[in-house]
Amino acid sequence: MTPFYELKPGANYLRFIGLPWQYRAHSDLVIKGDPSYGQRVMCLADMGDFVAEDRSNGCFLCRDNSSGSRWILPLIKDDQVFLIDIGYGVFSQLRFLARHMFWNDPTNYLIDIDFEFNYETMKTITRVTPCIIKPLSDEEMKLKTNFDEKILSQLTEPPNQAYRDKLQDKGYHNPVKDVC
Ligand SMILES: [Zn+2]
Repeated sequence: MTPFYELKPGANYLRFIGLPWQYRAHSDLVIKGDPSYGQRVMCLADMGDFVAEDRSNGCFLCRDNSSGSRWILPLIKDDQVFLIDIGYGVFSQLRFLARHMFWNDPTNYLIDIDFEFNYETMKTITRVTPCIIKPLSDEEMKLKTNFDEKILSQLTEPPNQAYRDKLQDKGYHNPVKDVC
């Protein structure tokens, strides 16, 4: 499986090669044993048996935790394909670039996602900076062509009963709160 890219503190020069795929997650939670990047805990409300006013009907996590949209998209870093899992902060900055008259499609240029964790607020600050417009190298083009988007549809499809069972078996935790 294509690995997830973990943002390193400081600059991260990345080349996106596809569109973001959206899913609904409990961003603060991680299934025990999973890394705290990628593989977020999915919201179970999309399993179907809930009414809009009361999400907790379908998702027991919604009772105590907020849920929101996240996105997964493919990128190339050091001649290797990765996936990255982003929240609204990064997504909205990429969307700003996508709509920008000069920058346009974020797959056309190198992007720096600068990442910083603030231990006082216990929050991450990310800044998205467009760098240089250049076509993909032959090697990068090969990686892009060979990348199968099916993995994105699989990762973002609403959770099924097996996922719910895994969540209940393994449990989940909040890595930030656990650090405090
Ligand atoms: Zn939920």
